[in-house]
Amino acid sequence: MKFWDIPYERADLEAFRREMEALICRFENAESAEAAAEAYAAMDTLEANALRTPRTIAQIRRDINTADEFYDAENAFYNREIPALQPLLKRRTKALLESPFRKELEEKLGSVIFVNAEMSMKTFSPELVQDLQRENELTAQYSKLLASAQIEFEGKTYAISQMQPFKLDPDDKRRLAAWTAEGNWYNEHGEELDRIYDELVKLRDGMGRKLGYDGFTELGYYRMKRNCYTMDDVENFRIAVQDYVVPVAKKIYLRQAQRQGREFPLNFADKDLSFRSGNPRPVGTPEEVVATGTKFYSELSEETKAYWAHMTGHEMMDVESKPGKRGGAYCTGIPAYRSPFILASLNGTAHDVEVITHEAGHGFAVFLNRDRTPIETIWPSLEACEVHSMSMEFFAEPWAEDFFGADAKKFLYTHLTGALSFIPYGTMVDHFQHIMYEYPDFDPEERHQVWRELLGLYMPWAKPGDVPFYGDGKGWQRQQHIYMSPFYYIDYCLAQTVSLEFWRLIREDPKVAFQTYLRYTEQGGSKVFTDLLKTAGLSSPFEEETLKKICAEAMAFIDSYDLSGLE
Ligand SMILES: [Zn+2]
Repeated sequence: MKFWDIPYERADLEAFRREMEALICRFENAESAEAAAEAYAAMDTLEANALRTPRTIAQIRRDINTADEFYDAENAFYNREIPALQPLLKRRTKALLESPFRKELEEKLGSVIFVNAEMSMKTFSPELVQDLQRENELTAQYSKLLASAQIEFEGKTYAISQMQPFKLDPDDKRRLAAWTAEGNWYNEHGEELDRIYDELVKLRDGMGRKLGYDGFTELGYYRMKRNCYTMDDVENFRIAVQDYVVPVAKKIYLRQAQRQGREFPLNFADKDLSFRSGNPRPVGTPEEVVATGTKFYSELSEETKAYWAHMTGHEMMDVESKPGKRGGAYCTGIPAYRSPFILASLNGTAHDVEVITHEAGHGFAVFLNRDRTPIETIWPSLEACEVHSMSMEFFAEPWAEDFFGADAKKFLYTHLTGALSFIPYGTMVDHFQHIMYEYPDFDPEERHQVWRELLGLYMPWAKPGDVPFYGDGKGWQRQQHIYMSPFYYIDYCLAQTVSLEFWRLIREDPKVAFQTYLRYTEQGGSKVFTDLLKTAGLSSPFEEETLKKICAEAMAFIDSYDLSGLE
């Protein structure tokens, strides 16, 4: 069925509550493992069909046109009413964990739902309700503040996201002016940004203590469902990043400075401009980029060909830029229709190719697992999901000329170097948060000082000073995850590491590499991240050798890459 032909009816929450309660009773009173498994499957289907499906449809339709009053009201209805269902859903989780048939159920349904259920029980207590509401208020204040930004630039006003093209303008003066205008806006709102974060850190620290933990960090790990690695693993990863990735990235930027005749370290406004003549730009209109996507997915494999035919045939993508559309890009799933959905606004920049490869990479994983039960195991945890998308970006590299035309050579270079230099930045974002929650009483100046020190460790190519806010060592305040979703960031670094292993495997043999990708992806969320990797025969990012090997090969590739003719 095409997306707009799907009928919409508001979820009947009273009926949902009644049916869920009856099913929980049926589950609790089941006299055999089979009966318990059946009741569990019924709960899983009920939640997916009667709650998640209508909610997701309303959300997508509202995001396509935020001025649509009907779907806007529907969306507001779910945001308002769904938190009240939490105690009921927690009861279900508790029943699952206390089932006398747990062992049989783990065999039937997979153990990952039990691991996750245990984690989710560790994150909540009724005495946190007020704190959680306050946390929502504070994160809403932060996102509202950022969304309200009106940045004066060249006689016009722009939102933060609209500044991005100017921040990459090849003209040095214009680019620096854009960075300065944006940086000044953040500095003007510095006190507010400091206050919100200060309150968030103390609030979260308090929540951790109320649950009996030594501060927030442990709770933060449970909230992120870190079900297969520990803080020590993350610390080892951090050290490997410093030992292997930072030196490679430093060399990339040193060469960039030499090519462009600039001093090293580079200032913030210069470091993101890979080439004097500008970063790679895709060819063609948004429609043509989608058509190139069709070529790519049809030629890559039978599986991706069927997937793309589904997405285009059922109109499960809305990627045109239109007034009133929500910004950004995402991929979600509509469970009752066993389909992924992609929303984005293509705009003629390299971002368009990312939508077609990255977001659609998430979509492919959902499509491949559309018949999986329990439905809640279609998606794995977040770092595992990012492997689907970040790796698909690398599988698209052989089609770089179709996507980028004459800029393909630039793209193949910046795609790899960008992935490599992202890892130190992302790891720094995570490291910073560990320190923040270890020392919740730091004052704002002490927090900025920590960021400055980490910049020296993870980004020695970025020069302090010159650019307001960023050069002042306050740039962490623009990284929304730090405020909105604590500890959600290392996920991207772990996934980027795995995707770089795919980059390496693709160079050996693209067909074999894609088989490995399929083996990984077709497991959906049936296992924890490290087990998904193991089954597919991929290395763990937590082993030192993994980054060491990737960096050695990447360095050799970069050393021999022919940049002649590119400025
Ligand atoms: Zn993603």
